[in-house]
Amino acid sequence: MSGPYKRLETQLVHAGDPRPRIDGAVEMPIFQSATYEYRGESRYDDVRYLRLNNTPNHLALHAKLATLEGSQAALVTASGMAAITSTLLTVLRAGDHLLAQSCLYGGTHDFVTGEFGGLGLTADFIDADRRETWAAQLKPNTRAIYVESLTNPLLEVADLTAVVEFARAHGLISIIDNTFASPVNYRPIAAGFDLVVHSATKYLNGHSDIVAGAVAGSSELIERIRHKANHLGGSLDPHAAFLLNRGLKTLALRVRYQNDSALRIARFLEAHPGVTRVHYAGLESHPRHARAQRLFAGFGGVLSFELEGAAQRADEFAARVRIPAIAPSLGGVHTLLTRPATTSHAGLSREDRQRLGISEALLRLSVGIEATDELIEDFTQALE
Ligand code: PLP
Repeated sequence: MSGPYKRLETQLVHAGDPRPRIDGAVEMPIFQSATYEYRGESRYDDVRYLRLNNTPNHLALHAKLATLEGSQAALVTASGMAAITSTLLTVLRAGDHLLAQSCLYGGTHDFVTGEFGGLGLTADFIDADRRETWAAQLKPNTRAIYVESLTNPLLEVADLTAVVEFARAHGLISIIDNTFASPVNYRPIAAGFDLVVHSATKYLNGHSDIVAGAVAGSSELIERIRHKANHLGGSLDPHAAFLLNRGLKTLALRVRYQNDSALRIARFLEAHPGVTRVHYAGLESHPRHARAQRLFAGFGGVLSFELEGAAQRADEFAARVRIPAIAPSLGGVHTLLTRPATTSHAGLSREDRQRLGISEALLRLSVGIEATDELIEDFTQALE
């Protein structure tokens, strides 16, 4: 049940969890059952079976996520990519065209460029900062527009208000990947987006211990996406659902701490003579700082930066830090450091990376919940 909970912090703890509590259990139990007794269901999607995304653990998460997003409905999936692919394959049919932001998460970018052709779909990439260029890329068969709230790894902030207006003016379904911002920092449904997707692996779960995804929107769209996801089979395991529900309870505490910590670390790095450039929307030097201030409640826990010298200098820095794990992914309680040219963006040619502004020496930092002062001390010694 969504319950009478008004504020985000309360909703995170209580929304969706069954009332009355199951046998008095304060925490939502794990329903580790693949199938459930027949109760007269007549539709395929209503048959109570784990792959059909309707066990008590799924229903609790659907209600909680819909409450957090302020949407009519939501769906959890086995990964962020399961949420993204199920959504795109529902919204688009053979012959349709998608407008997508140019600097998308690598997996989404690969799906659009590598799989669309075989499915009879087409896509064009837009510069999401320049609304005046979008109309020229519109086609009679364009059905949807797809953007991210903050891009990876350069933390660019698209003109999200213009995306919503453009979608409405041209009858497109607007979809946003809100993984980097989370509902604590940005509420896309309230801003007018039709669908919000997440890699729940990141901030929503927050502990780097599961892979999960989510999509939120109108009941009509989510029911169609659930039907598609039920066929594709990417349903979330009950134990992962339990962990996601537990992780969500501390989302606001974690993300607000990470907002503050990342801003302090970004300011420290910007002032350090060994650092040539810091990308973080909370810095006054960020080209879209004013836009980010208008759109977001906080600027998130991810930043990227460049050190004086070549890629080797970045690798030396990574070898010297003691607290962060050198690992891809983001949004968890542990601070993670990665060099995108060798991980998330290794699939692109050096020229393509250069074109997108991703230098070989760029480092991406996902700030965890460790003591900020201790992280700054660690970076200070690593930069010496
Ligand atoms: N969207 C963004 C912005 C991501 O960073 C990621 C993963 O890194 C994904 C989607 C894919 O999510 P998952 O790895 O949970 O499938």
